[in-house]
Amino acid sequence: MKPDSRVVSFEERMATVEFRIAEHAHITVDTEVCSSCTTRECVTACPANLFAQTAAGGILFNYEQCFECGTCYMVCNKAGAISWSYPQGGFGVVFRRG
Ligand code: SF4
Ligand code: SF4
Repeated sequence: MKPDSRVVSFEERMATVEFRIAEHAHITVDTEVCSSCTTRECVTACPANLFAQTAAGGILFNYEQCFECGTCYMVCNKAGAISWSYPQGGFGVVFRRG
């Protein structure tokens, strides 16, 4: 079966952007709140794969390659788990022209 040429791979998606990394995280995750989460929507929903489950059942998050799409904040069902804002001016994702 031929691969679907309309499907954009993760590598192709990441190749369209660059990141100007701010010193301070624009998104923070309260791992205490996450510890009682059984659904982990952020792990499957983040298009940049920035959330990962640890073997011990915790959650790891890295803000540096964030698309600033807001999906994690929208899908998370636990109040206070995610604090979301845009990066400070001049930092964050830069979408390149094709
Ligand atoms: S960020 Fe939200 S969805 Fe993700 S593990 Fe924490 S509580 Fe669950
Ligand atoms: S804003 Fe989008 S890219 Fe950034 S961490 Fe949330 S889901 Fe991932």
